[in-house]
Amino acid sequence: MHEFTIAQGIVDFLRETYSTKGYRITSFKIAIGELSMFDRNIIIDLVRELIKGTELEDAKFTVSIEEAAIKCGTCNQIHTFKELTKSLSNEEKEMIHFIPELISSYARCPSCGSRDLKILTGRGVMVTDIAVQRE
Ligand SMILES: [Zn+2]
Repeated sequence: MHEFTIAQGIVDFLRETYSTKGYRITSFKIAIGELSMFDRNIIIDLVRELIKGTELEDAKFTVSIEEAAIKCGTCNQIHTFKELTKSLSNEEKEMIHFIPELISSYARCPSCGSRDLKILTGRGVMVTDIAVQRE
């Protein structure tokens, strides 16, 4: 279960980086890349469960989906995943979700028609906006 590994990694990272250095985390945000295939609700439940009974218990957190940004290597325009894949079938979109590298095989840059497409963001999971207080 990938979500568990990710949630555990985030909680461990926050505790090791801040709590052990005398800071109390009051809030943080988790951004899940839209191509990462992680289930937002599962991540929320797992993080809530994992911080229970720890110094992070009272921290507020939100989990959002980060739109993927894809850059055309020919004209340098940056497009969203939705823009690039709106003319594709659901099966093709699903394939790209599983293997994002396939985007160059299915989609073309809407501005210049090139297939030289690189995924910039939207694949990983990030922790942002970590607010802390000195203990
Ligand atoms: Zn282009």
